[in-house]
Amino acid sequence: MYDVPISLSPSRVEAFTSCPMAFRFASIEKLPEPPGIHMTRGSLVHRALELFFMRPAAERTAPRLEQALESALVEYRTDPDFTGLALGTDEIATFESECRELIANYLRMEDPTTVREIGLELRLEAQVDALTLRGIIDRLELDADGELIVTDYKTGRAPSVNYEQKSLAGVHFYSFLCELVFGRRPRAIRLMYLKSGETITATPSAQSVKFITTRTQAVWRAVERACQTGDFRPRPGPLCSGCAFQEWCPAFGGDPSRAAVEATARQALLALA
Ligand code: SF4
Repeated sequence: MYDVPISLSPSRVEAFTSCPMAFRFASIEKLPEPPGIHMTRGSLVHRALELFFMRPAAERTAPRLEQALESALVEYRTDPDFTGLALGTDEIATFESECRELIANYLRMEDPTTVREIGLELRLEAQVDALTLRGIIDRLELDADGELIVTDYKTGRAPSVNYEQKSLAGVHFYSFLCELVFGRRPRAIRLMYLKSGETITATPSAQSVKFITTRTQAVWRAVERACQTGDFRPRPGPLCSGCAFQEWCPAFGGDPSRAAVEATARQALLALA
């Protein structure tokens, strides 16, 4: 019924488990989604940190980080993810000050001059049977003993204890990818929550790798089944309020079969405007 995707990333695994119907719209039918302010702010701060870490360790000072943020802000001024937000002057000022706050928090969380990064925004890819696993690691570094550490920046709030394991699943996936690509399991994976200044650290183990392998394969089999049967169920929850596909979602009285035609026609009209 639908072509089965041949690759999976942590975000796709999470997207399918959160709502198969939204996954169908975004990843199978590839319907356009308008940019969201949280996503754009997160990408911009990631870009600023990437630019900052391109500098030699001794130059990683507060003024240099502010400079990196200014460069990222300039880059984003013409980016569709930013222009598509259509922010007014006051909203732009708030957006920029939130970005400044996040990077100021970052500097309170670690000393960047001691970080021995070996990869920034590192794209990793590995084959597991017929499936390609893909992921982008924010920062891969070496600790004092030369062991690998995976660091992931988060610009949202830290999760409650109940959701901590779920939020670590993505970085365990990166750790699994490192093991497949480099033949070495990272010593630690870290989630740096820039909003609250908290860092969650986990130690990958044979058990966590097995869990990720089993979970990824189970999700892929479920995706495969849904593509063959066309049965992508909506899963209403907290994500619905920001979902770009609500009008076509059966949980909200919509008709999913109209989505592709209507979304494409809307895009064409926007391009003409
Ligand atoms: S509105 Fe909610 S249930 Fe429907 S597709 Fe979006 S996230 Fe899923």
